[in-house]
Amino acid sequence: MDDCKTRVIHLQTDQSTLFTPIRDEQLQYAADIIRSGDVVAFPTETVYGLGANALDQDASLKIFKVKNRPSDNPLIVHISSMNMLGLLASSVPDAARILIERFWPGPLTILFTKTPQVPDAVTAGQPTVAVRMPSHPIARRLIYLSNTPIAAPSANISGRPSPTTARDVLDDLNGRIKCLIDGGPCTFGLESTVVDVNQNPPAILRPGAVTLEKIREALHDVRDLSLCRPSEPDEHFKPPTPGLKYRHYSPTAKVVLYEGSSHSIQKRLVHDVQTLLNSGKKVGLVNTRGKSIAIPEDLASKIQIVALGNKANLTPIAQHLFTTFRELDRLNVDTILIMSVPTQKEGLAIMNRIRKAASEVIRA
Ligand code: AMP
Ligand code: MG
Repeated sequence: MDDCKTRVIHLQTDQSTLFTPIRDEQLQYAADIIRSGDVVAFPTETVYGLGANALDQDASLKIFKVKNRPSDNPLIVHISSMNMLGLLASSVPDAARILIERFWPGPLTILFTKTPQVPDAVTAGQPTVAVRMPSHPIARRLIYLSNTPIAAPSANISGRPSPTTARDVLDDLNGRIKCLIDGGPCTFGLESTVVDVNQNPPAILRPGAVTLEKIREALHDVRDLSLCRPSEPDEHFKPPTPGLKYRHYSPTAKVVLYEGSSHSIQKRLVHDVQTLLNSGKKVGLVNTRGKSIAIPEDLASKIQIVALGNKANLTPIAQHLFTTFRELDRLNVDTILIMSVPTQKEGLAIMNRIRKAASEVIRA
């Protein structure tokens, strides 16, 4: 990888008016980089993406190099119009039409049989291509100005938590990419839902911002394959989607997941925090249970506590989960303790990410 200076283009949304001053002259600079066959990091409503021209094999290969992404993990292609879908998909099944009608533009990725134009690097040699039309105004405008579909996985080094702020992107990729568009924090904070409509019934390969419940409302019969993964590492495991093979979303700190009632979790947490502190560890505690977890003040003052939300308010948990992992890494925490949330609605995507990040699960 050539080291280069990363130019940051600031196009932040004003949070009070939600107005984003999109300046085409600034975005055109980024679009020209895409047109020239290089990569650009940009915001979407899910996480920041690392984009390249999806119809250019060499450009798409640069994404894998910059991220250290395994070449057998395919990319999601982002489009700004239905015309672009025609370049990528050889047909659009009825189930896909229903999903597109309801959820595009938005955080839903659909698998289609690919056209010959889609390079093998993008699909990792698979006959299907994953496509989504983002709703984020900067992402949409960048794709439009680039005048080509943009292949974009998350803009992080592979295995790390996905970036949801420009700072997170720079932490991983500063000097490795020419341009980053800073559009402020991502609104959802977890990756898109991935649906395979070529199976009967259609299957959810990755839970995300569009919930299983909403997809069931639209399609009635849907299978959830996202939890279909052995609990122990298994080299013979054939995942329904290549992404399921890899460890993901991991901060440097060890993540320990606590499952069970808040009452029993709290007792176990107090014990474990004390033990970790006694052995000289720096501890971070991510509270996803609101006021039902209370750590005694003498212990609380010795650890980093981040209160993210509770089961009645999952939105801030999704929004801040990855950036909290990254923040605790910046504080050199050794162990992050985090509690489970119910797997309904956004909870399914949240638990999918926490389970992949965690190396130990305690059932209290
Ligand atoms: P990321 O770009 O890091 O959000 O990951 C993209 C996700 O989409 C991964 O989990 C991939 O396995 C999945 N994906 C992309 N393309 C395909 C495809 N053609 N078939 C199955 N899964 C795919
Ligand atoms: Mg990713």
